[in-house]
Amino acid sequence: MKNENIKTINLGAHGIVIHLVLPQDENGRYGGGSIVSNLEEVCEHCGHRDCDFDCEEAMEWAQDRDHEEMERKNEELKNNRDYNNRIDGFTSLILSQAVMGIDVESPAYLEALETAEQSIGNNS
Ligand SMILES: [Zn+2]
Repeated sequence: MKNENIKTINLGAHGIVIHLVLPQDENGRYGGGSIVSNLEEVCEHCGHRDCDFDCEEAMEWAQDRDHEEMERKNEELKNNRDYNNRIDGFTSLILSQAVMGIDVESPAYLEALETAEQSIGNNS
């Protein structure tokens, strides 16, 4: 992908950055795109989102934990996975709307985005 064929939108919230493939068609649709955010929960030990608590650092941490602590940790990991799945749905909706040419930088859209983000927020 050449840079001049990509439009970058930084929403300035939650680290959301959208890349849209130019040109737009006659209906204002882009050729596709991608989205990143900092909303996802990541492994507190290695920093990777898709770590299933099986990285070297986490294994080391787990060595000295008792059963109860591990139960709590497993519950937390499950909550994080559920939350990340919700975030995936959330960000893919934003991306598909942006690709369709919807103005995702409008104040109304950004306000709606905040409301939605709060309602799926990680309360664990
Ligand atoms: Zn890890």
